[in-house]
Amino acid sequence: MPNPYIKSWNVPNSDGDGEWKVSQRLDGSFACTCPAWRFHKAPKPPCHHIQAVKDDVATNPASAFRAACARALGDAQPCPRLEKEPMRTVPKKSPRAARVLTNAREIRCYSLSNNFTGTPLVNDPVIWAPDGQIKHVTPTEYLTHELETMPHAKLYDEGGGKFSLLVHSNLSYEFQSNI
Ligand SMILES: [Zn+2]
Repeated sequence: MPNPYIKSWNVPNSDGDGEWKVSQRLDGSFACTCPAWRFHKAPKPPCHHIQAVKDDVATNPASAFRAACARALGDAQPCPRLEKEPMRTVPKKSPRAARVLTNAREIRCYSLSNNFTGTPLVNDPVIWAPDGQIKHVTPTEYLTHELETMPHAKLYDEGGGKFSLLVHSNLSYEFQSNI
């Protein structure tokens, strides 16, 4: 089975005057262009650069989403979402988060189930209400529910009136808001 590279990261070298390229293959394995990794005999332990990428994917939800997106799409269709760093986090349950979600429009859903293609959110989305019943809600209520009930959900300000609600590594909503 082909095992192409699906994603790469440029990682600064320790002298700070250049960078090495860390790449990930479809099977999840990593490679680095640094001499320490290239010339190490197999089985190769991760070099500092590979470890830095792994640590970032493990702890940064936006990086985890990008990695999942790359694995689903490959290089042919680089993940268009959440590419801009640094993004500013809008604190959950803050007045600003409420304003951003109230004014959300052009909401698109990027998930593994739609190959991260950005399907528009339906006009009358449903949630599981606390009593276990399906409840039809407005798009704003839907996004608020996702942000407040999903434990790892984060709201990001991407700049230029663009926002992302990252639910987990395989699901993100993106929308405009005039805040
Ligand atoms: Zn390296």
